[in-house]
Formats: sequence, structure tokens, C-alpha cells
Amino acid sequence: MLIVEDETELSDLLSAAFAEAGWRPFVAGDGHSAVRLARGCEPHAVVLDRMLPDSDGLHVLRRLRDHNAQLPVLLLTARDALPDRLEGLSAGADDYVTKPFSLEEVILRLRALLRRSGADNGAPPAREPVRALGDLTLSERSREVRRGGTPVTLTAKEFDLLWFLMGSPRQVFSKAQLLDHVWNSSFDGEGNLVEVYIYSLRSKIDKGRAPMIHTVRGVGYVIRPAASEAPC
Ligand code: CA
Repeated sequence: MLIVEDETELSDLLSAAFAEAGWRPFVAGDGHSAVRLARGCEPHAVVLDRMLPDSDGLHVLRRLRDHNAQLPVLLLTARDALPDRLEGLSAGADDYVTKPFSLEEVILRLRALLRRSGADNGAPPAREPVRALGDLTLSERSREVRRGGTPVTLTAKEFDLLWFLMGSPRQVFSKAQLLDHVWNSSFDGEGNLVEVYIYSLRSKIDKGRAPMIHTVRGVGYVIRPAASEAPC
């Protein structure tokens, strides 16, 4: 679920509410990042603020529509005047809410849009076994890995190791703990095995990007969101 809103207090609230609803939120603070994220992250729907620092939300809306004519878009507007609402709807918004709005209303309207677009069958959201951190996402069922929207191919064991690390972001694990949890093996001087897999994972996940997998000297390894990248 892409949230396009420059007021961080509001985007934080929406993010928390969407995560609670079972949707994976990611945030763009301006129109330029919104278009980039919509192309790279393939959101199911977009919540789009009309008033953005770099452009009118309606301009962003047209650019989103150019790329994906079916993408459901809910417009956030501070204006309640009829001409403004009509302008938003005729520009291609599927629905709108007027600020200040209730989070419940936003969720209900989005559910309705998703149902209409076929992305949601109306049932409570399935808790897909997906782990996401920053712009990195893993899907357990399909074993799909994406960083910044780009698919990454991992071996089965690399996936297991990354899945385990992603289960506890920011927690440092020793080689012995990783061997125990990922390989079901006791620590018998097999630390090199972990090093080899971490090296390989880094070359696939972090290469040419802001690093997420870090070594904590003398302790072990940790995964953290890359500070400089937009979450996806
Ligand atoms: Ca705004």
C-alpha cells in the first residue's frame, strides 16, 4: 500500500493502521518518489495527498495512471468544495476522503476499492508469510525475494538464512546461533560455513546498494534497514 503524504505524523498513522489491517505500507514524501515507488514496488493501491511539496497530487495521479490505469487511488484532500472533489474524481481518482478523516474511514474505503479491483475478495486479509524490511521483501510461500522491487535469486539455504535474520531485524546473532537455527547444526568449528553464506548473501542483496547485512566484530551478524533508501 503506497502512502503519498509529506506530513510524517499523518503518514506514520496511516502506516501503522495499514500494517494493522494486514497491508504492507510504504511511504513517499513527494510526487517524484511516489511515481518511482509506484513503478518499482507495484502497490495494490495508493493513498495520495493532494497537497505535496513538489507537485499537485492530481499531477502525480495522472503520472500513476499513465503507468497503470487500473491502480486504485484514494485521494486525500483538505478541500471539501464540490469543484475540488469533482476535479479529483475527473482526474481519475477512484475515491477521496477529506481531511481531517478517521483512519477507519480510510481503511473501509480502501477495502472497497481493493474489492472492486479484485485485489481483495472482502475476506479478512490473509496474513501472508511475508517479511519486509526497508526495501527488501521475502515471501515464504513463493520464496520470492525483492530488493527495491528488483527480484533477487537465492539458493534455498541463503533464503533460509535471510528469512531467519529478517525475523528479528536489528538483533545480532552469533555464528553458533545461526548454525543452530538455520542448519540445525551444533557449533563444531563450522563458523566458516556461516561466513561463506553471509558473504554470498551480501553479494546478492547489498551489492551496489546501501548495505543491510552487517558484521558486529567479535559477536556476529545483524540485518538492519538501509538508512538511505525509501522503504518498499
Ligand atoms: Ca500534504
